[in-house]
Amino acid sequence: MPHSLKDCVIPVYPTIKALDVDGLAAGEHKFWFAIATDAIGHPQTLPVLVFKGQKPGKRLVITAAIHGDEQNGILTAQTLARSIKSKIQAGTVTIVPTVNLSGIARHSRDYHSAAPDSSSTNLNRIFPGNPHGSDAERFAHSLWINLIQPNADLGIDLHSQTSGSAYPLYAFANYQLDDCINMAKLVNPDVILDDPGDPGILETVYNQAGIPAITLEVGVGRYTDSTMVARAVEGILNILKHYGLIAGCAQLTEQKFIEGKQITSVRANQGGFVICHVNLLQKVSKGQHLASQFDSFGDIVEEYYSPTSATVISHNVESVRAPGSLIVRLLK
Ligand SMILES: [Zn+2]
Repeated sequence: MPHSLKDCVIPVYPTIKALDVDGLAAGEHKFWFAIATDAIGHPQTLPVLVFKGQKPGKRLVITAAIHGDEQNGILTAQTLARSIKSKIQAGTVTIVPTVNLSGIARHSRDYHSAAPDSSSTNLNRIFPGNPHGSDAERFAHSLWINLIQPNADLGIDLHSQTSGSAYPLYAFANYQLDDCINMAKLVNPDVILDDPGDPGILETVYNQAGIPAITLEVGVGRYTDSTMVARAVEGILNILKHYGLIAGCAQLTEQKFIEGKQITSVRANQGGFVICHVNLLQKVSKGQHLASQFDSFGDIVEEYYSPTSATVISHNVESVRAPGSLIVRLLK
């Protein structure tokens, strides 16, 4: 039944301060996870879905929208939740579709603090957080300590490119860990980056804690990309099949993904309007014309050329570019 504020109905699910999937009965559960209070003392609650099979098995945690403007991750998590209903036969799938509440509500990448002396924060650079730090650090810490770490044998963190730029279906995987490579390949992505992981990123913190995890980028920032969402859902279903959480055989597509470890980002040397001349997954040669930049009068001010032979894995889709903004990202 649809919920509406007019009827003063908030979906009534148990509110929890910590999750323990091992203590739950088999079946499907929905919770409000009280991650922290807000500045007026109200609980900030994240929706959490748990699907538990009858048999023991891997416990997978899926998070989305740690960056609030990356809505294709949210749509992937929600679509996956609808498609695995009554299908989990072993293990547990825990889904947190909307992590960064303050960012999502503002179509913004960052966590927005209400503390007068704080700036907005990139949540995916401060994991595992700090129980004595800023509100953003406490938020990240509560998510990691009370929800993710105790309930995960494997992790998938869903993202997309940030607003104004596009990615294909793109997995970050630590090649030192077999389960990370496995999961990344099972997604049937366009691109896999061999990624040792930067500090503060949730995927890095998972891997350092002995929980193999990947970051999955689902297409363009902010705007709906149904094709990419459908591919990401199919990819995660493949992971669930491979680890025996749902019935069926994982299918790897014929089309080969591109893999690499060396990223080159071509960034705007000055502000202005940038029209990109290349497409996602296009192979470019050294010196190839990538993009043209115009001033506010529409006069050309700069041309951009590829510094190397590589494959285009991201480009801007919004023309307005501040100095230093991404124009084209290349993978070698
Ligand atoms: Zn992101």
